[in-house]
Amino acid sequence: MTDTKVSRRSSLSNGIAEFQIEETPEKNKNKCLGCLRTNLLTLLTVGGVVAGVALGFILKETSSSPWTQREIMYVNFVGDLFLRMLKSLILPLIISSLISAIANLDLSLSGRVARRAVLFYLTTTFCSVVLGIILVVSIRPGHRGGDEEHEADPNDIRNTTTVDTLLDLVRNMVPSNIVQAAIQQYRTVLIPTNSNDIYEWKVSSETIDGMNILGLVVFSALLGVALARLRDEGKPLAKFFQSLMTSMMTITTWVIWLSPVGILFLVASKILEMESLDVLLGKLGFYFITVVLGLFIQGFVVLPLLYLIMTRKNPMSFISNLGQALVTAFGTASSSATLPVAIQCLEEKSKLDPRIVRFCLPIGVTINMDGTALYEAVAAIFIAQVRGISLSIGHLIAISITATAASIGAAGIPQAGLVTMVMVLDTVGLPAEDVSLILAIDWLLDRLRTTINVMGDSFGAGIVHHLSKKDLEKLDDTIPDIPVHP
Ligand code: ASP
Repeated sequence: MTDTKVSRRSSLSNGIAEFQIEETPEKNKNKCLGCLRTNLLTLLTVGGVVAGVALGFILKETSSSPWTQREIMYVNFVGDLFLRMLKSLILPLIISSLISAIANLDLSLSGRVARRAVLFYLTTTFCSVVLGIILVVSIRPGHRGGDEEHEADPNDIRNTTTVDTLLDLVRNMVPSNIVQAAIQQYRTVLIPTNSNDIYEWKVSSETIDGMNILGLVVFSALLGVALARLRDEGKPLAKFFQSLMTSMMTITTWVIWLSPVGILFLVASKILEMESLDVLLGKLGFYFITVVLGLFIQGFVVLPLLYLIMTRKNPMSFISNLGQALVTAFGTASSSATLPVAIQCLEEKSKLDPRIVRFCLPIGVTINMDGTALYEAVAAIFIAQVRGISLSIGHLIAISITATAASIGAAGIPQAGLVTMVMVLDTVGLPAEDVSLILAIDWLLDRLRTTINVMGDSFGAGIVHHLSKKDLEKLDDTIPDIPVHP
């Protein structure tokens, strides 16, 4: 008998016990206490965000001179420790969850689950881009407000072409060295020549720091398939990764308890760093409202509706079960760092099958970013509006395709979308430097879009779980379950 089955049965027997004591006067009080206990951490973490905002503004107000970088670094210290802990879990978690999930599924079922997940993720990302385009074209934020411009230092913005970015994406899927993929990724570098045409520049390459998650996902999926095919011979290695996964999730349950404090300091230091919210008064304010409106509709209307139609279950309770993951996404601005927390919420609170969660979420975190895709489309069109460039339907179609690709290519780390947006700007013929127009408020939009990214990944897992229920039940009779972490 597996742990999953044991836990499901015991919760069933608890249900019967509760039913028998239904008439006692203590019932309501117990219910409230139970609800508080299960949501205590989420409530504390939300409290952490609120306290962080308050602390940030209080510290800002009490100092007559602006805070130095060093002082902000001190305030951020505890938050940084929390983020580092979460980040340390990403690599072992992605590898072990994918390998063990695929190795434990029947191969044809793995194929079906993967197809469902990828189809859902691509469709919702595309819907999100279309939604963004409709909003930005109707609200026209770039034509509103004053003429103010917010130039920021564009030093770190690279010259690149859409073709090179796409080819790098595919190259990174096939890492030449799997150990190196854990710390570095490949990137094409264009060296300027006398020519003004970027396509005539010299082509070179470099490796840059940062985990190549896409490469690791592809390699882990392949290894999982190989282990499933090997059957008995593959079992020891599959068991190893299963055990690694379970231990990572155990550590996650400890780290999660630090989130209220960690997120408090992450948010407070960000508020201290923030220049002024005055930027929201002009064009940027309308741009901000457009993105936020789009994110809201995607997260609270489109995705829940899809979930309701496909599963006939209450999407709002699904969202409330995700509370902890959503606050963590907001606090860390990184969907990869939120992965352990999201897995925990879906398995523990939403009671999804671990095999589906561990299969879908790492893929979702890597390729599915509804919020980022929407933001990239809105931002590119906003910049074109500010620059007075009128866009044809052809341009809009090209933007919708490149924004989808750019969101797939973006890593689940803070402000990664800003980097891949160069690709979308390129389709409209805008220079990479124009990203500086939206830099001033990107830190805040980043947190909001990351929250929707995590929501999209999780709804995907929920729907795939529902669609795969029958297949899983059939499989349960032949292959043992993955044990759930404590
Ligand atoms: N920060 C986002 C994430 O981690 C990516 C981005 O849009 O910049 O999902």
